[in-house]
Amino acid sequence: MKFLPLSVLGLVATLAMTTTAGAADSGPFVFPDYRNGAEITARCEAILKDMAAQEAQVAAGGTSDNVLVGMDRLSQTVDDGLGPISFIANVHPDKGLRDAAEACELRYQAFASKLYQNAKIYARVKAFAPADPIDAQLRDDLMASFDDAGVALPTAARARARALNNEIGKLAQTFERRVREDKTRVPFTVAELEGVPEAAWAKAPRDAKGRVLVGLDYPSYNPVVESARNAATRERIWRAFQSRGGAANLKTLGELGQKRRDYARLFGLPSYADFTLRRRMAGSVPNVQRFLGEVKGVVEQRELRDIADLREAKAADLKQPAERTKLKRWDAPYYIERVKRERFALDQDSFRRYFPPQASVDFAMALSGKLFNVGFKPLEQKLWHADARAYEVVELGSGKLLATLYVDLYPRADKYGHAAVWPMRGSSTLAGRLPTAALVTNFDRNGLTLDELETMLHEFGHALHVTLSATRYSSNAGTSVKLDFVEAPSQMLEEWVYDAKVLALFQEVCKTCEPVPADLLERAIRSRSFAKGLQFSRQHLYASYDLALYSKAAPEPMSTWARMEGATPLGHEKGTMFPAAFAHLAGGYGAGYYAYLWSLATAQDLHTAFAADPLDAKVGRRYRDVVLGNGSQVDANELVGRFLGRAPSNKAFFEWLNR
Ligand SMILES: [Zn+2]
Repeated sequence: MKFLPLSVLGLVATLAMTTTAGAADSGPFVFPDYRNGAEITARCEAILKDMAAQEAQVAAGGTSDNVLVGMDRLSQTVDDGLGPISFIANVHPDKGLRDAAEACELRYQAFASKLYQNAKIYARVKAFAPADPIDAQLRDDLMASFDDAGVALPTAARARARALNNEIGKLAQTFERRVREDKTRVPFTVAELEGVPEAAWAKAPRDAKGRVLVGLDYPSYNPVVESARNAATRERIWRAFQSRGGAANLKTLGELGQKRRDYARLFGLPSYADFTLRRRMAGSVPNVQRFLGEVKGVVEQRELRDIADLREAKAADLKQPAERTKLKRWDAPYYIERVKRERFALDQDSFRRYFPPQASVDFAMALSGKLFNVGFKPLEQKLWHADARAYEVVELGSGKLLATLYVDLYPRADKYGHAAVWPMRGSSTLAGRLPTAALVTNFDRNGLTLDELETMLHEFGHALHVTLSATRYSSNAGTSVKLDFVEAPSQMLEEWVYDAKVLALFQEVCKTCEPVPADLLERAIRSRSFAKGLQFSRQHLYASYDLALYSKAAPEPMSTWARMEGATPLGHEKGTMFPAAFAHLAGGYGAGYYAYLWSLATAQDLHTAFAADPLDAKVGRRYRDVVLGNGSQVDANELVGRFLGRAPSNKAFFEWLNR
């Protein structure tokens, strides 16, 4: 799963921030060089003080700035301080710095819940008369943030809203930390690892008995569950993976569900899902349920066919009748890979030699150059880790500086374990502020599979959304768009790796890279559709579970999961606790997991414009200006309509699902 982490700031994004004014940027962003936790704490202290002073100023209306500009400047102060600090909490190798950064995030949250209950600022925003649609959009967004923070509630309810917000932020942070810092390693003898590529475990630590200790990060976990011959090996690593976060996280998740429901009730709404969805592109719980029902209708039969296929593969492998063969959950990834190898002679690992990690970054940059007319220049900077790289993003031709981009490719202890982009700093044309993004992945140093190259382009999509944003206010910058739209630009770009003409860009950026053989790519394209039923039924389950968790009942997480997963064809395995590891549920995606499917529908719709030519610079330029450049200053449904020249539609998505 590839998501933009909203984590703690995600909560605040619902309480949205603002921006503009201050000194214009004259050069690239300089990543702060904190040497210890105390320096972060001191900086945090200073930012909070600055923010409090600005809040008082905006409330008093004592300056010539209007209230939008004042609030946007406040948001820039948050970006400047909290942007890098939140990032440090997730990637810095030093625990002292991470802890201080997390503590700062909590203090910021407390500030934000209070800020959006400031009745004086609320009154100013309410009275503000917008001169154009962009100002009107920000005014409406701000009003929503104040309303959702409880500014208009009676005194006691307002205090309760603030307290709940802080408790929710703390619980979400604890939940995510338990998953991220899970140190579980599963011991296997070399014999038990039969079938797993040696490169995947050769460097892993050993225990006293000489057994290989396999971690649960993706480069360690995936090869074992996808290629271990021994079913018991797959079962053991799969069970450990399904239990990350542990029982403590189930309890935390239950508390989160109840507190979020309590929060919604303060506003007279029955559930947290009702509370959040009314602000999203989807608009309401029934709209999402209708959409999920349609998805289910498309994938249900296909999932059963996939399972039958995989069961047959298992039976043939074990030389036993299919009727006596049961497909277990830990069998699915293994037999999916096996069938792909047999049916399409496809082994994802065989792509690694064609896609070295740095060349893959350069490829994404070259593609961005062709489509969006931007270049990337390496930048010398002292960063959080020796593996991290900095780049200037520039306009091709004029060389004009547009943004700063950080890239951190490889796994290491205590680093955020998925692939994601941190929008560290938002653009503001009014304030002359240039955006900054940080792209984080956990790739194998030996090179990327085609699937991982897809992940790279996905994340690059987020990075471009941040860095090519050209919004008036930083509150509306790039990825500040609605949660159920934010994945669309990234999901759209995933399509590009399945095109030979696009992959040929590798030869432009890497002299030693051999081209991917045409038939290998062809087989990969065909195998991509395999097991789509299983894959999308799983996404449907996740989305439905998330909605159930944040429904009126706020049910107990584990029994609800066991019941819902138990109702699927592969059933529920006793003793596993997947929700404990599902960090998205706790963080900014609470009551928003459906957004993955929802925005994929938008992505497929957007992609239709590039169907004739994936490197069409004219369409690319229009996309950059209309979709990426506007961030959230134009409503998402309208952006899509403006770019496509027609009303948005799910047609392309359902065709794609059926392919
Ligand atoms: Zn994403």
